[in-house]
Amino acid sequence: MIKISNLQKRFDDLEVLRDVNIDVAEGEVVCIIGPSGSGKSTLLRCINQLETPTAGEIQYDGKSITGGEMKLRDFREEVGMVFQRFNLFPMKTVLENVMLAPVLTKKKNRTEAKEKAMELLGKVNMADKANNRPSTLSGGQQQRIAIARALILNPEYIVCDEPVSALDVSVHAQILNLL
Ligand code: ADP
Ligand code: MG
Repeated sequence: MIKISNLQKRFDDLEVLRDVNIDVAEGEVVCIIGPSGSGKSTLLRCINQLETPTAGEIQYDGKSITGGEMKLRDFREEVGMVFQRFNLFPMKTVLENVMLAPVLTKKKNRTEAKEKAMELLGKVNMADKANNRPSTLSGGQQQRIAIARALILNPEYIVCDEPVSALDVSVHAQILNLL
């Protein structure tokens, strides 16, 4: 369970989030809808700790993230992230992008990480592009890689910030179904 209580975020004089309360149970899909500039990304960035909330609390399975009861690294294993603009590492191959996290966190050796990464690339139908650089792929293909990368640590949740808005309408359904 991700529990957000009385969350507030300000940037100087601009109060972007005020008294936000949301509970997200495992397996639940929650969509946050609002106009551009309404604070959707700020909320997601507070949830995955790219921003520090001004006030309020975020808990993961009863442990306070904002209160430091869970290490950032442990939290990141439980909560994957998919961005609007994919954010793949351009100098690495598709396979290297996907296998990076378990190698860096020493959860798996390179052989195991590679095996798991290839399995996930198969799931997102991108196994044949394993040795490509991201720049040689379409937006939809890059987002499929980003989804595989978000899944490799077996997260309980995936936080997605407008995961299809940079993509052609023709691939929206494909990516949403995959998610
Ligand atoms: P959305 O994702 O809903 O379009 P954002 O969360 O990106 O909205 O932005 C909400 C508001 O917060 C906007 O007015 C934006 O300019 C402001 N904002 C976002 N990030 C920062 C920042 N790092 N510093 C100052 N203002 C910011
Ligand atoms: Mg946004």
